[in-house]
Amino acid sequence: MPTMLEFKGVSHRYGNTPSVHQIDLAIDDGQVVSLLGPSGCGKSTILRLAAGLEQPLEGEIYLNGELIASPTHMVAPEKRGIGLVFQDYALFPHMTVKENILYGLNTQKISAAEKDKRVHEVLDHIDLLGFEDTMPHQMSGGQQQRVALARALAPKPNLILQDEPYAGLDSRLRERIRDDMLHILKELGTAVLMVTHDSEEAMFMSDNITVVREGMVEQSGRPIDLYCRPSNAFVAEFFGEVNRIDGKISNGKLMTPFGAFAVPGRADGRDASLIIRYEGLVIEGSGTPDADVPNAEVMETRLLGRYSLVHLSMAHHNGEELHLHARVPGLNMFSPGDAVCLGLDESQVFIFQRRLTPSQNI
Ligand code: ADP
Repeated sequence: MPTMLEFKGVSHRYGNTPSVHQIDLAIDDGQVVSLLGPSGCGKSTILRLAAGLEQPLEGEIYLNGELIASPTHMVAPEKRGIGLVFQDYALFPHMTVKENILYGLNTQKISAAEKDKRVHEVLDHIDLLGFEDTMPHQMSGGQQQRVALARALAPKPNLILQDEPYAGLDSRLRERIRDDMLHILKELGTAVLMVTHDSEEAMFMSDNITVVREGMVEQSGRPIDLYCRPSNAFVAEFFGEVNRIDGKISNGKLMTPFGAFAVPGRADGRDASLIIRYEGLVIEGSGTPDADVPNAEVMETRLLGRYSLVHLSMAHHNGEELHLHARVPGLNMFSPGDAVCLGLDESQVFIFQRRLTPSQNI
């Protein structure tokens, strides 16, 4: 599939503040790609660089194979054919739906009749025909969101950039709106680069996810690759709550109450962590005093609807007490003080050598 947008080694600063560092990124035709990471990691800056609102200090950005940005070259934002759905680009409150969408067509050299046709087309796509003369304040948050998307889609862009598009909506509405939006975008085959700090939203929406940390790409891949094969503890922890057992590597292995785990890149004496997702810790039944089976004591249980959260305490061979959490489906049958046996779902367990944080590497 042809590449729509490509970042090659792009770096940027705001004055003395580094924002992104040697970013590589590729979005294919019709793909939805999410940038996922904590606040301040550089996600919005990547969008602003793609939009032409910031210029790279290093590297190049290509759109459909054409150079659009480098330290010495900038194609103006309005010449890029990119649609923006940013929070700072909210609907104009004093304009009707139709006027808002026409605004998005301002820079297009097309006849008034063609503009009217486009307004009709995009309103049809977002299922809001008949709302032409409505003012934004007369619509729900979700409807306004769809109009903002329609305004971005009206000029028929190849690529849409969305910055936390669903952040202002309550959780039930958000799920419905993002489902609607995904259908509209997939139907039109428009490529999307979107920013989110919500891993579930990223997994739901995206063909590909790029996890960003401190201005650098930690890992890119399909949602399933990142969830099942995170390349480090940061990525693993971004996709759900985890237990963490830290220790030092000895003979290429990390000793834990669940046995010895071989550490890739085995550097004896270095720190390593065993990461166990809450859902990867399995309570196998009531405990037996068998030295070979990891035993734990139930400290507390909480019913959270479809599953329960069980807080457990177990002895580490180094003498420390380990506090772990298990997420078990349905109503659990355990009470505080119960002795239980623990097992692991290997697909939810990861071992990583601990490394310096990116900022220490810069
Ligand atoms: P995110 O979108 O992931 O929250 P940003 O791209 O907004 O991250 O910010 C990346 C870094 O750049 C942060 O350290 C932030 O404080 C800084 N930054 C963002 N915008 C500006 C600005 N206009 N001026 C100075 N620093 C900025």
